Amino acid sequence: MSTFQAPKGTYDLTPPRSATFLAVREAIAAPLRDSGYGYIETPGFENVELFARGVGESTDIVTKEMYTLTTKGGDQLALRPEGTASVLRAALEANLHKAGNLPVKLWYSGSYYRYERPQAGRYRHFSQVGAEAIGTEDPVLDAELIILADQAYRSLGLRQFRILLNSLGDKECRPVYREALQTFLRDLDLDEETRRRIEINPLRVLDDKRADVQKQLTDAPKLRDYLCDACKAYHEEVRALLTAAGVVYEDDEKLVRGLDYYTRTTFEFVHDGLGSQSAVGGGGRYDGLSEMIGGPELPSVGWALGVDRTVLALEAEGIELDLPYATSVYAVPLGEEARRVLFGVVTGLRRAGIAADFAFGGRGLKGAMKSANRSGARYALVAGERDLAEGVVQLKDMESGEQSAVPLTEIAAELAKRLG
Ligand code: ATP
Ligand code: MG
Repeated sequence: MSTFQAPKGTYDLTPPRSATFLAVREAIAAPLRDSGYGYIETPGFENVELFARGVGESTDIVTKEMYTLTTKGGDQLALRPEGTASVLRAALEANLHKAGNLPVKLWYSGSYYRYERPQAGRYRHFSQVGAEAIGTEDPVLDAELIILADQAYRSLGLRQFRILLNSLGDKECRPVYREALQTFLRDLDLDEETRRRIEINPLRVLDDKRADVQKQLTDAPKLRDYLCDACKAYHEEVRALLTAAGVVYEDDEKLVRGLDYYTRTTFEFVHDGLGSQSAVGGGGRYDGLSEMIGGPELPSVGWALGVDRTVLALEAEGIELDLPYATSVYAVPLGEEARRVLFGVVTGLRRAGIAADFAFGGRGLKGAMKSANRSGARYALVAGERDLAEGVVQLKDMESGEQSAVPLTEIAAELAKRLG
């Protein structure tokens, strides 16, 4: 160990576990790529004001969890705590919404930073893969995104997750509900902070995890009873499309994203094997966000799935991904001349697209064969002076143990054939 350790609330991804993270990112991205979503990458930091407006001044993310800094030039920046605001900012800046057909469909993958109390499944640096569909209000789009996330989780073999679904109404019906809820909440016995929350972000109170608060909320007015006809019809359509696709969901009236520009469809993916950090992903419609950050009206919908928690979910279900070994062939030279010749062979194999590795450092046969084993390679190539004199290398099948001499000039073709 060195003098240094990873900062509090962070951890390193190291082999072999890191391969699972890559595979999870890939599994989430694959259905998006196949469905017309283009890859977008934005900076790891943004002007702090983007998140203040684009995530919301009343959220925990902005008030408590954001890493902010002032640059030497005096700019106020924040490490990105989430992806949606940045992606929308970038799409507007590049005029993607004017360039072609709407919706603009984008996906991203990256690191996010939140100053949280570290615990299992909750870190200060974590990883998300996300998707945004910008500029179209269509229940099919909401359904598409939920179906693609479901498909991604299923492709990983996950089964113990549930989809929670709700509608938050729109700018017509939501304010009426908000006021009714505030009137109800003001009469409850609540602490100072929660009372303040009633005024700024009352829907968020419904999300309170404390049992004594939840008990008082039993008779709270229900958003469902306040949805306008357009929102009701929209939500019914999303539900019907999910059902038609065979995607099982649960209606959850308490599921809220209490910001003014979050509208209609909202959903969360929860996994039952994760304890209290059970949300593996979440998303919804944000019809008002573009205008909040100075853009035109662009109704949009998106989600972000947490890679860290998805890996924990795999581990909770005891799922081992079927990851192909990185190395197909492991070369073991015996002696100086063999080192040069076999390294040339390895270079040639690599150029021919065959994954190959090499026993570096001039170890003896025993140690080198141990490394060959550990590499997971299907074949080992062993050559000493006598082999070279005959113009052959020994090709060993690591599974059967069977060994045969193959002419140097034919080794690439032979391996290509055997590896299919
Ligand atoms: P939570 O309620 O658990 O705090 P959240 O509502 O803050 O989650 P989102 O902002 O919706 O989470 O982010 C989407 C996903 O990103 C989450 O479902 C989760 O998988 C992951 N995520 C969020 N915060 C963290 C974190 N601090 N550490 C690890 N993963 C996280
Ligand atoms: Mg959070």
